[in-house]
Amino acid sequence: MQHSRTDILILGSGGAGLLAALHAKQARPELDVTIAVKGLLGKSGCTRMVQGGYNVALDPRDSIERHFMDTIRGGSWLPNQELAWRLVTTAPERVLELENRYGCFFDRNPDGSIHGKAFAGQTFDRTIHKGDLTGIEIINRLAEQVWAHDIARLEEHRAIQLVPSRDGERIAGVLTIDMRTGDYRFVQAKAVLLATGGGPTMYRYHTPSGDKSCDGMAMALRAGLSLRDSEMLQFHPTGLLAGEGKRLTGTVLEEGLRGAGGYLLNGAGERFMLAEEKAERATRDVVSRAIFNEMRHGRGTASGGVHISMAHLGPDKVRAMFKGMVERCADVGYDLAGGLVEVVPTAHYMMGGVEVSIDCETALAGLFVAGEDAGGVHGSNRLGGNGVANSTVFGGIAGDVMAAWVPGAGTFAEPDPTIIETARARAEHPFAGAGGDLNGLRARLADGMWEDAGILRDRAGLERARAMLDDLGAELRQTGIADGGRAFNLTWHDWMNLESQLLASRAIVAAALAREDSRGAHYREDFPEPGDLENSYFTRVRLHDNEMTVATVAVEFTRVRPGESLIPEERAA
Ligand SMILES: Cc1cc2nc3c(=O)[nH]c(=O)nc-3n(C[C@H](O)[C@H](O)[C@H](O)COP(=O)(O)OP(=O)(O)OC[C@H]3O[C@@H](n4cnc5c(N)ncnc54)[C@H](O)[C@@H]3O)c2cc1C
Repeated sequence: MQHSRTDILILGSGGAGLLAALHAKQARPELDVTIAVKGLLGKSGCTRMVQGGYNVALDPRDSIERHFMDTIRGGSWLPNQELAWRLVTTAPERVLELENRYGCFFDRNPDGSIHGKAFAGQTFDRTIHKGDLTGIEIINRLAEQVWAHDIARLEEHRAIQLVPSRDGERIAGVLTIDMRTGDYRFVQAKAVLLATGGGPTMYRYHTPSGDKSCDGMAMALRAGLSLRDSEMLQFHPTGLLAGEGKRLTGTVLEEGLRGAGGYLLNGAGERFMLAEEKAERATRDVVSRAIFNEMRHGRGTASGGVHISMAHLGPDKVRAMFKGMVERCADVGYDLAGGLVEVVPTAHYMMGGVEVSIDCETALAGLFVAGEDAGGVHGSNRLGGNGVANSTVFGGIAGDVMAAWVPGAGTFAEPDPTIIETARARAEHPFAGAGGDLNGLRARLADGMWEDAGILRDRAGLERARAMLDDLGAELRQTGIADGGRAFNLTWHDWMNLESQLLASRAIVAAALAREDSRGAHYREDFPEPGDLENSYFTRVRLHDNEMTVATVAVEFTRVRPGESLIPEERAA
């Protein structure tokens, strides 16, 4: 096993990871900062895939209070209000920093101000963007900055275990696998940031990048940390339905299409969203449920989805506004500007994640979490545009906080050797068994989660999902890898992906069973009411002796109570 040392180790190179590295280095240039990433820096993760844009209250007619209230109401009063407040108050300075320090350039209005577009569930058009492929602009510029500064990189290094000190009091480092050679590398660090970006890839249709398999949440659970809001799993309503087995199936078609006035039509050509107050511009949870309802009642298209139609807005205008989306649809034979495109709800984002303070701290000293791995900002439903804001805002905060924390942390902590050995034995386990059908296992997981722990849930389905996950877990332990090589053995990594996905799925199902009401993305057909908003609670999941335990914890309304508002005009009324 190889060893290396760094003051600050950052896991993941999405918006959270890159901002953290840049902030830490800027605050304390003398510290060693290292990014370890499962993929390639600048090429992996979901921030690069961000299409629609970034929510920020910049327009004088908008306000931070309005952005905050949209976030709290969108999240059905479940967000941690201090985290949400930190998000909305820091986003304006982060956007200016992205442009003025790192060189991003967002689209402009004729007067030179940054253009904000309409996104669902928001009372102001505050989603700033670079065309309809915003994430490429952000990640390219951030990656250039990281390359230009003295920040070490361990690319294609997969983190597999958070390793505490011998006394268990603080983090000592992280065990990784160098995917290129298959060698284990222990990276000793004084501070570690978990920024591996969640990623609900355990569902039949999903949007996140293939390198994401909930490794961060699985590592956090194994390290004894608690996750909150795990049942809150966002489906994006308009995933491309390219056809059975096609790689682009599930890829998201951005929310701005509905924001701009796109129609959703069922198989009979009817607009089925008209009963909703905001029609197609309702929040993602509402639209996903409506589409799912059409599908399961046989009112879908021939391939089983529904259609999105933009042609009434004028094909030239659609081509100008949504160049990236038009090209993506054309890749699979659809004419987005002038025709109909088949879409299906697709698993998109995990609102749940590790419980953190507003400074990204966790219960384990020296371990910080930011981005989609952290829970609490979004409650039951993330607004489109609040995801990349969340990862860049809290990534930057984590970088500052770690840089301030390290000088007081003393010497490097010695790692607990038993934890390292147990993690290695777990990773080596599949090499001891005969080959098996990993693809079949993955397909059963994807179908089971889609059917029983997806958009519409009830106790019977969730119990089925729980039993399925137990069975698949046992089968995975029996499933070996026929080819024993370690260097770039993607079957091995598939095996570990499944292990992480199964653990994260168990957390989702346990929390979904515990929440006997319907809020945001979590809809229980056997408990369709939202429950008493004043007595809102969140779920807290922990792993103990390989059993998931769930507690419910009261939400603290630290800034505003249900029925109240921070928006001056609403308060006056
Ligand atoms: C198609 C798509 C479109 C989206 N559009 C928008 C949008 O318009 N607006 C918006 O606000 N949000 C959008 N989102 C959500 C947004 O991308 C995420 O909220 C956000 O970018 C997550 O940032 P992150 O830094 O937490 O994770 P990511 O950007 O996903 O980065 C995670 C990093 O961790 C690495 N990693 C994973 N596992 C390991 C491991 N075991 N060891 C080491 N490294 C690991 C990955 O390789 C990657 O580098 C979109 C998401 C998708 C999938």
